[in-house]
Amino acid sequence: MATAAPQRLQHQIALVTGGSSGIGAGVCLALAAEGATVVVNYSHSPEGAEETVGEIEKAGGKAIALKADVSKEDDVLRMFSQIREQFGTLHILVSNAGIQEDAPFLDMTLEQWQKVLDVNLTGQFLCAREAAREFMRRGPQPEISKATGKIICMSSVHEVIPWAGHVNYATSKGGIMLLMKSMAQELAPHKIRVNSIGPGAIKTPINNEAWETPEAAKKLLELIPYGRIGEPDDIGKVAVWLASDEADYITGVTLFADGGMTLYPGFASNG
Ligand code: NAD
Repeated sequence: MATAAPQRLQHQIALVTGGSSGIGAGVCLALAAEGATVVVNYSHSPEGAEETVGEIEKAGGKAIALKADVSKEDDVLRMFSQIREQFGTLHILVSNAGIQEDAPFLDMTLEQWQKVLDVNLTGQFLCAREAAREFMRRGPQPEISKATGKIICMSSVHEVIPWAGHVNYATSKGGIMLLMKSMAQELAPHKIRVNSIGPGAIKTPINNEAWETPEAAKKLLELIPYGRIGEPDDIGKVAVWLASDEADYITGVTLFADGGMTLYPGFASNG
């Protein structure tokens, strides 16, 4: 009789920011299915996070919801001390929270620029710094994980693809790339691995106007050589692998999960 594969993240505590919807919720479910206890962070209303927690518990996993606006230092510090009080430590951070506030460049207000940078980039800095501090405080636990800690930043194909009409968003994702690589360089001697995931087009509330109607979906598919729009679980599976010991020699990379969007499909028949 075949035995079930061992869960890859057993005895590990994971924090997923913005785990109340979309990709974050998909990542929470995937980490929990591999045995991690998941802290589902949300910024304002708890409903989405409680739904994610409920789904995890229904499947036999462990999770709690915690409120914090990742762009506010006090909120982030409070969330990390709550995690320490409740679970003793943290092993995995998936820094997923992100927003769009689109506007043509000529019309973009300082407020729109600042809001996106605050959540998408400063939020990554604050959460990663607190996670790294906690990993260092706790020290190695090789019986649980080869790396002392794992940080996964949710970036985007727009860390390399320029995006007119979204300069604040593309700037934030380009910034995440060198934040992630510089942290990876600095933290590798402490056995802390830092990587990013670069999703392409994934069906979530952030971009519903891009896939909701058949016309919009057809236009979007022109940018995706692999011929389908991604699902949150496509990203959840990547996050599990990057956080697991199977990826123990991987640090400082962005793993694009984009159905080939970064292959410049406009050049496929124009050589
Ligand atoms: P989403 O809108 O469903 O999820 C964003 C999450 O971030 C929500 O849960 C939201 O509540 C949370 N959030 C927003 N501001 C916050 C704050 N200040 N503090 C804490 N949480 C906050 O969209 P999504 O598509 O699931 O996006 C998740 C991440 O994936 C984002 O970083 C986004 O840039 C990235 N991404 C998405 C796509 C895509 O196609 N959907 C592609 C590339 C990258």
